[in-house]
Amino acid sequence: MDLSKYNQMRHFNATAEPQGNIKKAKGELIFVVQKHAASHLHYDFRLEIGGVLKSWAIPKGPSMNPEKKRLAILVEDHPYDYKDFEGTIPEGNYGAGTVIVWDQGTYTSINNRNDVTSQLESDFAKGHLSIILKGKKLKGEFDLLKFKTKEESSWLLIKQKDQYATEDDILKSTKSVISNLTLEEMAQQVNEKIKR
Ligand code: MN
Repeated sequence: MDLSKYNQMRHFNATAEPQGNIKKAKGELIFVVQKHAASHLHYDFRLEIGGVLKSWAIPKGPSMNPEKKRLAILVEDHPYDYKDFEGTIPEGNYGAGTVIVWDQGTYTSINNRNDVTSQLESDFAKGHLSIILKGKKLKGEFDLLKFKTKEESSWLLIKQKDQYATEDDILKSTKSVISNLTLEEMAQQVNEKIKR
């Protein structure tokens, strides 16, 4: 668990993103999905493990359909405080573009052991996480599976078959679960603030 890469990549006098500190949820572990209009639109899927947010960029976004396996690229650990970050990362900064909190909630490991965090840490190291999400949009069982053959950073996010599995496209739900704004509305709001 190391936030030095995260901190190195950012200038905190130029971006409103939080500075990296290791921190834990008081109750259940949390997860967050941020919709991020960077050079390419993607969804950032983040799981609290050991005081940081393990993070994957999902180009096509998560799916509630077990048939739709989604490529998830492992990126640098993000700080716990990133869970509430939305707004615009200014031009010229790493990840420049608008961010909304597309989904947020708590989660746990399916492989139940007394110490959930050490279970998650060993599953992460093995490249196979089995989790239950309790979000506003994403619910139920998911697997995150690391490719054996491809480069280190390639994983798949796969919805498991349960009562929440559906062919309906969850990405049609476009608003932030915090501000209730779409990415476009958020970008506009930030622009208006800058103009004032
Ligand atoms: Mn991103």
